[in-house]
Amino acid sequence: MSRYAMESILERWEPVIGLEVHAQLKTRTKIFCGCPTNFGGEPNTHVCPVCLGHPGTLPVLNQSAVKMAIATGLGLHCTVTTESVFARKNYFYPDLPKGYQISQFDKPICTEGWLEIVLPERTFRAGIERVHMEEDAGKNLHDAQTGLSQVDFNRTGVPLVEIVGKPDLHSAEEAMAYLKELRNILRYLDVCDGNLEEGSFRCDANVSIRPSGTEPLGTRVEIKNINSFRNVGRALGYEIRRQARALESGDAIVLETRLFDADTGQTQSMRSKEESADYRYFPDPDLLPLRLDQTIIEEVRSTLPPLPEDVRSRFNEQYGLRPYDIAVLTDEKDLALFYEEIVTSGADALAASKWVQTEVLGRLSGDKLTVSDCPVPPERIARLLTHQSEGRITGKMAKDIFEKMWREDADPDKEVEQIGGVISDDADLRRICGEIATQFPDETAQFLAGKTKVLGFLMGQLMRQTKGKADPKKASKLLRETLEAIGTEGK
Ligand code: ADP
Ligand code: MG
Ligand code: ZN
Repeated sequence: MSRYAMESILERWEPVIGLEVHAQLKTRTKIFCGCPTNFGGEPNTHVCPVCLGHPGTLPVLNQSAVKMAIATGLGLHCTVTTESVFARKNYFYPDLPKGYQISQFDKPICTEGWLEIVLPERTFRAGIERVHMEEDAGKNLHDAQTGLSQVDFNRTGVPLVEIVGKPDLHSAEEAMAYLKELRNILRYLDVCDGNLEEGSFRCDANVSIRPSGTEPLGTRVEIKNINSFRNVGRALGYEIRRQARALESGDAIVLETRLFDADTGQTQSMRSKEESADYRYFPDPDLLPLRLDQTIIEEVRSTLPPLPEDVRSRFNEQYGLRPYDIAVLTDEKDLALFYEEIVTSGADALAASKWVQTEVLGRLSGDKLTVSDCPVPPERIARLLTHQSEGRITGKMAKDIFEKMWREDADPDKEVEQIGGVISDDADLRRICGEIATQFPDETAQFLAGKTKVLGFLMGQLMRQTKGKADPKKASKLLRETLEAIGTEGK
């Protein structure tokens, strides 16, 4: 099908997307036992009779997992329920030793919330249906060489929250923005490290399409196995087109689970979609209903760190930054904190924003570092920028000094002192301008004859002879004055 034909088909259909995200909570131990949760480790070393489901063992709920789930709900503007219930979701799979997963079903810990999505052209809220707690399963490892499969139970029982989004998204771009914002919120809250590759933040994408301008939802397909933001976009892009093509040619969409293949960029049917009745959910008789009194909810609320949306509005109101700069600076919590520390250490907010985006981010990506590994602390950047704003050094000098700060751990005050800073004293600059006029009598004469372009050449000479230290604004003004004075004298 031609690209044009496809585009015109797509205009007739509106995509509807709802995302389900499984996020690993950053607790030290598992949700129902004391085993460690760290990623990696020799297979089956982070296990005990409880998480292996041995007979006679009983689960004990991890309090910090509950607090993190509450924080997640609050960060997503949800209602935290005062009573939620753990249920058994029954199915067989080799990575599930008990034969059921402990999850929450009809009574989740949080309901009804939203998150704010900032796109270049508009900002909107996407709904959250629910947040529930559950335990993670183990990992099946398939060895292609031996043809054997093995199971690693280290991940079994690691606490998860599943965050179910409402079908409020209408393009692959919106879906990616939703995911980035959700991940950012969890990282600001410090409840999940949000690592897609290591699987601590996993996404299933549900997508259907409906005739543009109509309300009723179409039959959805659930896509699994998407492990990067880019692939969310690719998978949705492929699936939206596949569904549009099918419906246009009179075929029906089947409610099913499809797998995304990152190599081909396509989705493949995996199985027909299971229904909740298939899992025979029932309340886990080993766990009491989780009753939360208002004090614990308020305790979590009172320790909640600022969220990306709070930081965005602060950066706007307090520092006067533009939406684009705010988006860049708040994209990572650590970067936002880094930027803000430069400002609170005394630098001008706009100058700091520009410096972080050009000099710091540029160098970090060049050196393949994250902001937490930045070799120059924010307070030093603040001092450097202050030297510049107070006119002791030029922008060019600031960049050169920054290079030394980055590579050699140089201190900005010492560097500025050593190079002697900018020459901005009027008398000094007048003397230098006079010397330039004497050294270049021909050019001076040309200037006086009306060829003002040579001013650029003379200014270049002046900057060269002062090794770039002359205050450029003042120097160019004084140079013009000096030359004009010579002209009047000559008359
Ligand atoms: P399941 O566990 O069966 O996948 P959930 O209720 O946990 O069901 O998740 C349903 C997800 O699918 C939600 O994110 C929701 O927004 C989304 N969804 C539901 N209906 C549609 C639809 N018609 N089109 C697109 N997404 C949908
Ligand atoms: Mg699902
Ligand atoms: Zn254990």
